[in-house]
Amino acid sequence: MANQLFFVFQGHQLLVTESETDPSLPDSQLLAECKPFMLRQHRVLDSQHLSCYALEVNESYIPAMGYRFIGLRSLFGLLNEELIALIGKGLQIIDWDRTHRYCPTCATENTHHEHELAKVCPNCHYRSYPRISPVVMGLIVRDQEILLARSPHFAPGMYSAIAGFCEVGESLEMALHREIKEEVNVVVDQVEYFTSQSWPFPHSLMVAFTCRYVSGTIVPQPQEIEDAKWFSIDALPLLPHPVSIARKLINQTVNTIKARHHALY
Ligand SMILES: [Zn+2]
Repeated sequence: MANQLFFVFQGHQLLVTESETDPSLPDSQLLAECKPFMLRQHRVLDSQHLSCYALEVNESYIPAMGYRFIGLRSLFGLLNEELIALIGKGLQIIDWDRTHRYCPTCATENTHHEHELAKVCPNCHYRSYPRISPVVMGLIVRDQEILLARSPHFAPGMYSAIAGFCEVGESLEMALHREIKEEVNVVVDQVEYFTSQSWPFPHSLMVAFTCRYVSGTIVPQPQEIEDAKWFSIDALPLLPHPVSIARKLINQTVNTIKARHHALY
């Protein structure tokens, strides 16, 4: 019998035990208490060893003693990354179900597709799938330096790689060149894929690249970029959380530059 996990959401918040350092998911007894308040439930994963379900309870549900609702970001570093990714998938499915109740073409109430994660309109047969929004991220390298920027909503002192949403009709590479030019006025080449990560805030797919500086003087885009500058890899500012793709991109790129430098000298 496979292990079962239940992710209980109220809006965008997840139900966990109150522990500050070792929070855990609700047990079967608490789950039974949640059921009368349930708005929707979906299977997130069904493998030989593990089944995961996401469900949403309404605003009337008050957590039992010892439990609380908490934002997923607050659980970074407290739960393992595979579990965070599954919870993030559950959050996106629940969010999609809540926001796609009606057909966007004829406003009839949608039904669930029998086999796919999709909704079907019983009137006009239009299908709605979960929305995924690609975001490109680029870390620009110039010798022993990397270009980092901060947006006004970042934590004080924190800098990260350039990132922005892909626009309709663009390839990932086109979006990357455009975002970098718009946000910091720099031209790059040697764009190399790094990795990607689902980012459920609310439904992004982060696609990260490294690239090489070619030309341009940094001009931060008004409103979007509060500050941007070159940082020596030996004197980096406060960086995003280690769970984030931005941090992994920065860490690995810095290590690669150091290794290359070491090999040269
Ligand atoms: Zn319809």
